[in-house]
Amino acid sequence: MTRLRQGRLKIPGLFQMRLDRQILLDSTRALWHSTLDLVYPRRCESCHGAVLDEARHLCWDCMTRMQLIQQPHCDRCGDPIEGKVDHDPMCAYCARHRIWFTRARSAVRYRGPIRDVIQSFKYRNALYLGRDMNLLLLACVQAHYGAIPFDAVTSVPLFARRERERTYNQAAVLARALASELRSPYDNRLVTRIRDTQTQTHLSASERRQNMTGAFVPHGSNGRQGQRLLLVDDVMTTGATVNECARALKEAGAEYVYVATVARG
Ligand SMILES: [Zn+2]
Ligand SMILES: [Zn+2]
Repeated sequence: MTRLRQGRLKIPGLFQMRLDRQILLDSTRALWHSTLDLVYPRRCESCHGAVLDEARHLCWDCMTRMQLIQQPHCDRCGDPIEGKVDHDPMCAYCARHRIWFTRARSAVRYRGPIRDVIQSFKYRNALYLGRDMNLLLLACVQAHYGAIPFDAVTSVPLFARRERERTYNQAAVLARALASELRSPYDNRLVTRIRDTQTQTHLSASERRQNMTGAFVPHGSNGRQGQRLLLVDDVMTTGATVNECARALKEAGAEYVYVATVARG
């Protein structure tokens, strides 16, 4: 009887100790961050002017300078379309080419402040910018794909040597955080990039398409047959990369591949 009572008393005691420890850790962390902010004030990543007082790295001025992608845009790839359009518009690119993904949507145009942010995030180890980018990505996914129950979130893989050099894959960092927000599993074992396609900025749309053909191969049986996937990347330009990746994901058994990127070129 005594042992039972002690046992019962022990649980809230331990729980209380853990709670006290957590509160202490949280307040120490908060104090440390405010001291750091005092000594090294955090400036906006893009304009380097405004001092930020929250856990963000872009000021509101720069945030409002971003061009959100709105209607009208291609129903398939999400590329903005100029002028007046009919219902379910499709851009010239999607009308002429085989598109493997179900739909693609991006949060903002790849112009202005977001360029600096993505470049730093991608090439200069500025992983702390992931949170700002994920806010945009999450808003985009909720606005366009809100009702879709994804079976898993995945990302465009880098060529293995490139990932070793860079030490991380920026798309995987974004996708992992997004998966956790969406409470979906993150799965990066579906396709492999078998060719190092380097940067494509100097290539035309058709050269990009040729350059990407066969760049990804599916892994063997992965238990994702017939599933609905969300494929994440940082920037989409012509769509050649996500399209080829979607093709490999379909070959891997996926039924639907929805694409979400932070920016659209
Ligand atoms: Zn700014
Ligand atoms: Zn299109």
